Amino acid sequence: MDRITIIVPCYNEQEVIDLFYPAVQEHVTKISDCEFRYIFVNDGSRDGTLEKLRELSAAHDDVTYLSLSRNFGKESAMMAGIDYADGDAVIIMDADLQHPPEKISEMIKYWREGYDDVCGKRIDRAGETWLKRSCANIFYAVMKKFSTSYEMQRDVGDFRLLDKRCIEALKLLRENQRFTKGLFTWVGYHKKEIPFEVQPRAAGTTTWNFFALFNLAMKGMTSFTTAPLRLMTFLGITISFLAMAYMIFVLTMALLYGDPVAGYPTLITVMLFLGGIQLLALGIIGEYLGQIFHESKHRPIYLIDEIDGRRMIYKEVLMPIERNTKFRD
Ligand code: UDP
Ligand code: MG
Repeated sequence: MDRITIIVPCYNEQEVIDLFYPAVQEHVTKISDCEFRYIFVNDGSRDGTLEKLRELSAAHDDVTYLSLSRNFGKESAMMAGIDYADGDAVIIMDADLQHPPEKISEMIKYWREGYDDVCGKRIDRAGETWLKRSCANIFYAVMKKFSTSYEMQRDVGDFRLLDKRCIEALKLLRENQRFTKGLFTWVGYHKKEIPFEVQPRAAGTTTWNFFALFNLAMKGMTSFTTAPLRLMTFLGITISFLAMAYMIFVLTMALLYGDPVAGYPTLITVMLFLGGIQLLALGIIGEYLGQIFHESKHRPIYLIDEIDGRRMIYKEVLMPIERNTKFRD
């Protein structure tokens, strides 16, 4: 009997929790040779999510909930779930039922064939705005160009089944500026992409907006490649050469032909251009410096306030003890 933990990060999801559990149960109870457990991670919700989770875990033996001490973001919430998961594999799903539960049996099928990381690949981004789609395109294109050591999976998100080998590997990566999508790729192992259609949100509203996504993309870029820094070096060299060539041209014109080089337009263009490039380079260095700043403090990725009604203290959270007792009778 394989034991699988379903991890569900929840932030202000009071409307969907009651829908989520039965919807997923309906599918997993059909899978006879697997035992399922749920870990809901309440990521510092401001609505009634925690109360809903308390009710759910009281009503069902197979439900555990972790409640973080504040909103740490989905990336950290997922890590909390991963740290506490037990069993042979983990499935990560959004609480809003955008990830179709009927795909679970297919994921398990491939997992049993020997794949360690069966990830859902969204086949249409149709429900998304043009802006979001274009930004995603740019992001993937840039990452593809820049990250030479491994390839970022396209249109693959957090909906996936991970073998315990991947889980153990992910637990080693304790950076707190987390770009989980990249970390999944980084750990490697055998990956299988299965297509799925993103469903409309069951209820509630998305917490992602343009800036949140932009920040995530920046985080992804700065934590997985230093290519932008290299790019700036090349840009610097190129501009210096161009400047040199232009200087020779201007001098030649002045000395040989006595051309009174027109001053203001050229000067102001060059100045503004260089100013722009310099600010850009500084900004890029700043992004990396920011990453170092955050990582150098070695703060924990999340703090847990409560597990199934038990109030946790800091020390218990830091020690990766054998935690989820739900599988052990
Ligand atoms: N989420 C979270 N912490 C956050 C934001 C989101 O745990 O700070 C969870 C949220 O409850 C949901 C999942 O992450 O289960 C995806 O969020 P959402 O549906 O808002 O994003 P979208 O599907 O629009 O990308
Ligand atoms: Mg969603």
